Amino acid sequence: MSRLQFAHIPGMGPAGKTCRVCRHWNTDSHKERVCAKAAELSGKRLEDLTPVSGGTCACKYWEERSETP
Ligand code: SF4
Repeated sequence: MSRLQFAHIPGMGPAGKTCRVCRHWNTDSHKERVCAKAAELSGKRLEDLTPVSGGTCACKYWEERSETP
């Protein structure tokens, strides 16, 4: 069974935006970046999600982050 990765379908969010500049693309305790919004919506733990590449096109839950990691 594949693990959850995105909060919603990549590419359905704002044009030209990516996960790298989304405030949900991060964790404090996990080495690989995952989508915290996907965890929130699913109730899954961050460590149980599949990492998300920063270059992934934004989904509809994209929200601008204040700083780029
Ligand atoms: S755009 Fe944001 S909310 Fe959507 S999958 Fe990427 S990190 Fe998650």
